[in-house]
Amino acid sequence: MAGVMLVTGGSRGIGAATVRLAAERGYKVALNYVHNKAAAEKLAHETGALAIHGDVAAESYVVRMFKEIDEKLGRITVLVNNAGIVDVAARVDEMSAERMQRMFAVNITGSFLCAREAVKRMSKKHGGNGGSIINISSVAARIGSPAMYVDYAASKAAIDTLTLGLSKEVGPEGIRVNAIRPGVIHTDIHASSGDPERADRIGASSPLQRAGEPEEIARAILWLASDEASYVSGAILDVAGGR
Ligand code: NAP
Repeated sequence: MAGVMLVTGGSRGIGAATVRLAAERGYKVALNYVHNKAAAEKLAHETGALAIHGDVAAESYVVRMFKEIDEKLGRITVLVNNAGIVDVAARVDEMSAERMQRMFAVNITGSFLCAREAVKRMSKKHGGNGGSIINISSVAARIGSPAMYVDYAASKAAIDTLTLGLSKEVGPEGIRVNAIRPGVIHTDIHASSGDPERADRIGASSPLQRAGEPEEIARAILWLASDEASYVSGAILDVAGGR
């Protein structure tokens, strides 16, 4: 058995592609979602994954989610910190405090809370057997996304730094921590930022001249999770068509 994997935001997009591939490769998979119960349950039914409802930004939900995994699937070995949100295009001088707080709560606090619970179970210091954490950042972290969503880009820069710091903190305890920075990928996230054509438009200007597919990110995630990447930690891997 490959292990026990939690994919946050696993009901759609990159997360759903990761759930499918992980199930195919023999992982016991938990997929988390917050709104789209129908998509989560359909995917769980198709893949044999365990669907768990919960907002990653809410500590009580995160704690409960990890307990449910302990009880139903066993000790977690891989965390994919994938749940994330954007918002409509705006300049910083137009952003409300509520928008910023929600963006940082889901994208940053959510990833920290899930990493905390995973480390408590994976770390040899806590009686665990090690594991792997893969954080989903974005090329936005190094581009900055001006006049679109600097708040989102900054939240992903925090994910890069979480990856660097945590990899050093828990490497001696048997945990590898890495990040992937996807470029523009065909998922629903662009429609939720009010610009469904965004992936094709921006993708066309990348060196590979197209947007990526969720499966292309999933394959990189599964590689980082696997023993094929046994000496990779603290890495931030761009999977962005050369952008
Ligand atoms: P997506 O298609 O919009 O799917 C987002 C997923 O996250 C859904 O499963 C959603 O659940 C879940 N989610 C949202 N807020 C949540 C919360 N508070 N708690 C738990 N789950 C939550 O997004 P995607 O494009 O696959 O993006 C996945 C990750 O890749 C994100 O971190 C994103 O920032 C990053 N990324 C994406 C792109 C891109 O071009 N697509 C590029 C760079 C980075 P529901 O189904 O219940 O709503």
